[in-house]
Amino acid sequence: MSSEKTSNHSSAPAPASNFIRAIIEKDLAQNKYVHKKWAGSPGDAAQHAAGESDPAKIRTRFPPEPNGYLHIGHAKSICLNFGLARDYNGICHMRFDDTNPEKEEQEYVDSITEMVQWLGFGWEAFGQSHLYYASNYFDWMYQAAEALISKGLAYVDQQTADEMRANRGTLTEAGKDSPYRNRSVEDNLALFREMRDGKHADGSMVLRAKIDMASPNINMRDPAIYRIKRAHHHNTGDQWCIYPMYTFAHPIEDALEQITHSICTLEFEDQRPFYDWLLERLAEAGFFAHPLPKQYEFARLNLTYVVLSKRKLIQLVEEKHVSGWDDPRLPTLAGARRRGYTPEGFRLFADRIGVSKADSWIEYTILEDCMRETLNEAAERRIAVLDPIKLVIDNYPEGQSEDCFAPNHPLKPELGKRTIQLSKTLWIEREDFMEVPSKGYFRLFPDNMVRLRYGYVVKCTGFEKDAAGNVTTVHCEYLPDTKSGTPGSDSVKVKGNIHWVSAAHAYQAEIRMYDRLFKEAHPGSADRDFLDDLNPNSVTTVTAQLELALQDAKPAESFQFERHGYFVADRKDSVVGKPVFNRTVTLRDAWQK
Ligand code: ATP
Ligand code: MG
Repeated sequence: MSSEKTSNHSSAPAPASNFIRAIIEKDLAQNKYVHKKWAGSPGDAAQHAAGESDPAKIRTRFPPEPNGYLHIGHAKSICLNFGLARDYNGICHMRFDDTNPEKEEQEYVDSITEMVQWLGFGWEAFGQSHLYYASNYFDWMYQAAEALISKGLAYVDQQTADEMRANRGTLTEAGKDSPYRNRSVEDNLALFREMRDGKHADGSMVLRAKIDMASPNINMRDPAIYRIKRAHHHNTGDQWCIYPMYTFAHPIEDALEQITHSICTLEFEDQRPFYDWLLERLAEAGFFAHPLPKQYEFARLNLTYVVLSKRKLIQLVEEKHVSGWDDPRLPTLAGARRRGYTPEGFRLFADRIGVSKADSWIEYTILEDCMRETLNEAAERRIAVLDPIKLVIDNYPEGQSEDCFAPNHPLKPELGKRTIQLSKTLWIEREDFMEVPSKGYFRLFPDNMVRLRYGYVVKCTGFEKDAAGNVTTVHCEYLPDTKSGTPGSDSVKVKGNIHWVSAAHAYQAEIRMYDRLFKEAHPGSADRDFLDDLNPNSVTTVTAQLELALQDAKPAESFQFERHGYFVADRKDSVVGKPVFNRTVTLRDAWQK
């Protein structure tokens, strides 16, 4: 279960088994890959045959198209593919599936690599980097297409798009053969080369695989594999005016990279017969060798209270419903990271939800629980008063202050204690005082006693209100013999225990109180516009009083604010000595009815 590479989670429990792990274990038990060789880089059968014995027991890949930002759904696929490679002493290739010339941008490439690494994974393994670009394979793809033509397995079709659609047939009706289906190999080769050489207009013809127009699987009814498109490609420039279709390109990418287990989401299930057909035919042509890559499908992540569709995410950003791709309310990984979600939390989430073949919805609270659990372990405790009112200790000397000691982490005494200052005037939470207590209220109200956490027991002696009737200041007296941590301090028993910050020793900060972006579990369901389901209160900004130590928080540092939840110093808007904080998640689930 261990490998010499990227793993840094040796303390994590072994992930639960699933159907993909069962397949891999069976393949390994049958020594399916023991004779496999690796050329040192992607290549065809001849190149790999001349290589060394493959040090990787299995090869998986994560193949995003660099046309957008990664989201929480991608995190599931990343944890799955990189996690399998880690656990079975294999390699997961980081592959940019950039065969589509139009939409891809370097900005996306950079953000994707950054996020995969942030999640704790890497592609350096066995002394090599396994970062690949599918667009480097265009020559091979072209040769593979010629190989199919030479075997009579592909033809150039000049039907219009409408004719092709009409002749494809339906689920219940067979398709009709194209009048161009029986061209000679020589004519097909000549035409395909003319397509490549720019002799024909965009869309005037396509190359199609010649399989079976009567197949019950419509994907097997002579799918298009190459199209003419004069478009500039970010990697190959204007070298090509024909581009492979995704369904043709992807199996070839997998085979060139000697992928053993090509794991994708369920919507590709119907493509599997073509995947196998193509690789088998190319193996017969000597292009690839057995064992060929195999495709396995799993259910994509559907998460309540978010949208994971690229189109909808783009709409949220472009129409400025959020502040950008890294808005802390977005389910993008850039947003989640800024919100304070942790890589450990995502890996725990991926293990917890598992992998199955049945589509289902995962409750957002499961993700939040994973974040709470990992932050509870990792985050130091601090004190923050989010809705401050003043508490004056009338019998405490003016101008004096004293040290109190607060543990940095109750589960990790080795992290020690820090000093916080107590003085005459403190900030406390507005909700920790009631003029007239409700039933079961144990905090401050006239004549009641509470403990100031890490400090003294105080007795409420009165309060002041402003003209509008809002309480502005609470008065109390402290009991000098009750300081926490001193002998006999617990001789006075109280039921309430409230937090506080000394007004003379506070850092006043902006805090963004984030909540869910959507108020409905299934945004846009039942024919609603998903935008109508936006939560109008998904962020409120408060001015809080924090213990002074928080002024030194570094961007992206996380804390538990006692009694409130987990907060992170915003990585973007914090400046040194003046951090602003984002609420990552509350201590408990506030949405549970
Ligand atoms: P597109 O509609 O542009 O294809 P995509 O979400 O599939 O969007 P890709 O860049 O192709 O984007 O995705 C990369 C990988 O992430 C694919 O292997 C895909 O199966 C996987 N993936 C995408 N969305 C999810 C999801 N919700 N759950 C699990 N895996 C996902
Ligand atoms: Mg996709």
